[in-house]
Amino acid sequence: MTTFKALIASKGEAGTSLAFGDFAEADLMEGDVTVRVTHSTVNYKDGLALTGRAPVVRRWPMIPGIDFAGRVEASDNPAFKPGDLVILNGWGTGETHLGAYAQKSRVKADWLVPLPEGMNPGEAMAIGTAGYTAMLCVLALEKHGLKPSDGPVVVTGAAGGVGSVAIALLAKAGWHVIASTGRAEEADYLKGLGAAEIIDRNELSGPGRPLGKERWIAGVDAVGSHTLANLLSMTKYGGAIAACGLAQGMDLPASVAPFILRGVALLGVDSVMCPKPRRLEAWARLASDLDRDKLAAMTTTIPLEDVVETGRAILDGKVRGRVVVEVG
Ligand code: NDP
Repeated sequence: MTTFKALIASKGEAGTSLAFGDFAEADLMEGDVTVRVTHSTVNYKDGLALTGRAPVVRRWPMIPGIDFAGRVEASDNPAFKPGDLVILNGWGTGETHLGAYAQKSRVKADWLVPLPEGMNPGEAMAIGTAGYTAMLCVLALEKHGLKPSDGPVVVTGAAGGVGSVAIALLAKAGWHVIASTGRAEEADYLKGLGAAEIIDRNELSGPGRPLGKERWIAGVDAVGSHTLANLLSMTKYGGAIAACGLAQGMDLPASVAPFILRGVALLGVDSVMCPKPRRLEAWARLASDLDRDKLAAMTTTIPLEDVVETGRAILDGKVRGRVVVEVG
């Protein structure tokens, strides 16, 4: 029997448990492409899955991990051949489909994106789902017609994964980036990524007024709750906020005032079920626009054995930028 190393989440009478073990290749789920996973990441959602703090895992046993990069080992689909380098983000991987914290994964060919030219698998996972989502947010703002000459852009959860990549991308595109963080000690890091101004996230995290002073034309929000409500209330006439996250909360205690009095738009961004053409566009833009030195500056690398501990740390807001997992 062929087996491979995996982190296995199980559910029994005593509750759920996580353990590294050998997983039988025969027990991989349906799919037409088998990938030798070389790299994964720890995203906020991985933290939720690994700690059980939210019901991310919906099938047992499960191999957690929502994204990976690796090399195709076997393919029944003409779109991929053995040796091809691929990326996977979402589609229920690590939730309903066996996931990334393992040496192998079997998935549908439709879920895979070819690794862009000039990018290696480690860099792809330094970007990971957080960075690809940051790119989707930037694309959403651009498709709304917004551009750097319209005014400043605000990025919340700035020192986190989505925030760090969003700052680098927006600064490169010429935006005046206002970074909102709870970690004042990371000011130099954020300026290094391209932030022009740093604000304390406490300015935005409490209950606010329906309409505030107009401060920015655009925003990328990884935080939700009062922060998103305040972002909307402080958006200039005709602006938009791309919302992708819930680090502060899933609620949205806002009023309609910014929408009906200032024509502000709230742009929802989902990475999990995002259609393939948009994914290809996002990864192509990441390959061409994201400064590799900045990407390296925001990245920490860990072995697979450390994912559980890092999952706890990311929920505690203690992870800066992005984490690459070397699967080995
Ligand atoms: P990170 O933990 O790396 O970043 C989140 C950041 O939010 C933290 O670093 C911190 O930034 C800030 N933060 C944390 N807790 C709070 C709080 N209580 N109040 C205000 N700010 C807080 O996570 P990711 O970058 O991986 O993900 C960010 C969010 O985006 C998550 O909610 C995640 O679920 C969501 N997401 C959604 C996707 C989608 O498809 N819609 C895809 C990917 C991510 P700082 O220290 O600078 O204040």
